[in-house]
Amino acid sequence: MPAQIIDGAAIARQLRELVAAEVSKLKATKGVTPGLAVVLVGENPASQVYVKSKSKQAAETGIKAIDHRLSETTTEAELLSLVQKLNADPAVHGILVQLPLPSQIRSAEILRAIDPAKDVDGFHPINVGLLATAQLEHALVPCTPLGSLILLKRHLGTIEGLNALVIGRSNIVGRPMVQLLLNESCTVEIAHSKTDDLPAHCRRADIVVAAIGKPEFVRGDWIRPGATVIDVGINRIAGSEGKTKLVGDVAFEEASKIAGAITPVPGGVGPMTIACLLANTLTSACRHAGVKAPEWTKAIRA
Ligand code: NAD
Repeated sequence: MPAQIIDGAAIARQLRELVAAEVSKLKATKGVTPGLAVVLVGENPASQVYVKSKSKQAAETGIKAIDHRLSETTTEAELLSLVQKLNADPAVHGILVQLPLPSQIRSAEILRAIDPAKDVDGFHPINVGLLATAQLEHALVPCTPLGSLILLKRHLGTIEGLNALVIGRSNIVGRPMVQLLLNESCTVEIAHSKTDDLPAHCRRADIVVAAIGKPEFVRGDWIRPGATVIDVGINRIAGSEGKTKLVGDVAFEEASKIAGAITPVPGGVGPMTIACLLANTLTSACRHAGVKAPEWTKAIRA
C-alpha cells in the first residue's frame, strides 16, 4: 500500500489559523498585539525570500512584524546594539536574526545576546538547556523540530515507546529533535556523518527524521515497512529542461512505496517552520502578558 502523504502545507495553515485566533483573543483580553522583530543583515537572496515570507505570514495572523534591514558591512557591535534595543522594547515579543550572518559577525555572540524570553528561534543556550531538561513550559523550542513533532503527533497520535531515528546532529534541527522525541518517551537514536551502517539503524526505526542536507540520501529499502518518515531536507538539484527542483534527504518515490506515511518536499516540514515561528511569537507574547500559552503539539490534532 502506498504511504500516506503528510500534508504539511495544510497542517501549517491549520496552525496559522489557530495562532490568528489566539492573537485576536490576546488583543481582546489583554490589549496586547504580539510583535516580531525580523533582522536581516546583508543581501543573501535566500534569506531575503525567507524574511519576506516570515513578515507576510506574521501580518496575516495579526502579529505585528517589524523588519530591520542592515547593510552587509554592519559590525558586530552595531548588531548587538540593535538586539539590546529590541530586548528592551516592550512591543517586541519575538526577535529573529536571520542566519547566516556576514563573516565579520560571530553568530554565537549575537544569539547569546538575545533575551531568551524573546528568542523565538529557540537557539539561546538557556532555551537549549530548558528543552534538554524537559522544562518546556518555560522554553522556546526551535521551529523546524517543533513543526516536525506536530506533524508526527498529528499523524500518529501518541508516539510513546516508538523507536525513533534522527539523522543529523545540528543545533538547529537534529539535536533539538532528539530532545523533543525523548520528551515524548520515544526510544531515540541519533545518527550522523560518522555513523556505521546507517541503513541497519534505519531498518529498526518506527520513525525516521532525516536532517542531513544531502539530496535523496536515505533510500527506500532502508525504511522499515509502515514506518513514518519526516524529511526535513531541502536540496535544490538539476531538474528537466534546464530547470532546478527541490528534493528532500529521502528518496521519496522509493520510500513512499514502503513507509506508512511520509512528508513530501516541498510541502512537508518547510511550511511548518514559519507557522511555528508565529506560534513561538504568540507563546512569548502570552507569557509576557501573564496568560497561559497553547500547547501546540496538543492543539493541532486530526
Ligand atoms: P547541517 O549541515 O548543520 O547538519 C547536517 C547533519 O547531517 C550533520 O549533523 C551531519 O553529521 C549529518 N550528516 C552529514 N552526512 C551524513 C551521512 N553521510 N550520514 C549521516 N549523517 C550525515 O544541516 P541542518 O541545518 O541540520 O539542515 C539539514 C537539512 O535540513 C538541510 O537540507 C537544510 O536545508 C534542511 N532544513 C530545512 C528546514 C525546513 O524548514 N524544512 C530548516 C532547517 C534545515
